[in-house]
Amino acid sequence: MIFDLKPKKDKEIQRVSNKALRELKEFYGIKNKIEINIIMLKDRKTFNALRNRKTPGWNTAFARPPIFSVFILDKKNFGKESSSDYSKEYYAQLIKHEISHVLFYQMMGDLRCPAWFAEGVALYTDGSLKRRKRPGKFEDFLEFYQSGKSGVYRESGFAVEVLVKKFGKGKLHELIKRNNGIRGRKQFDKLFRKIYGFNINYRNMNKLLQE
Ligand SMILES: [Zn+2]
Repeated sequence: MIFDLKPKKDKEIQRVSNKALRELKEFYGIKNKIEINIIMLKDRKTFNALRNRKTPGWNTAFARPPIFSVFILDKKNFGKESSSDYSKEYYAQLIKHEISHVLFYQMMGDLRCPAWFAEGVALYTDGSLKRRKRPGKFEDFLEFYQSGKSGVYRESGFAVEVLVKKFGKGKLHELIKRNNGIRGRKQFDKLFRKIYGFNINYRNMNKLLQE
């Protein structure tokens, strides 16, 4: 497939992505200069062509961390080409979510990690948790080890929130960095235990949620 890209100016998107990048660099403790490309895809057809598959209506953006790039449905066609309504706030949150993925994988230096962990950190940092329903207890986020299913968004952000609130950002940074080279759930769970001192399971995570 052949695509045609042209640079363009958009003050609002530039402002939103600069602000997100500033806040996220602070969260991840990243000091070096980073520039992010925001690539607007004009419609679902272009979005699908670039992803090489048919995508569901809720899927409106994705990140390609190795090339510091965020791809997003153009705001002009956003309502028409997705199952979400366009608002400035929601669009800004989507951009921040994807930039967070870029910095997360840059910090890790690897592209493989549990889906719940990658999405959880992005949801925790994109500011969307206040609009999401807080789970009374954790019951399925650990099942989302491979990516792609929308259920991963339900609990994972709150699981990361609990970890940061109880143990701080330092341990989370450590888990991100040391996940480099980790392959499979067993290895990840072992690394988690080494860093946090307990096994990652629903019983332990629910205890933290209720404390
Ligand atoms: Zn995400």
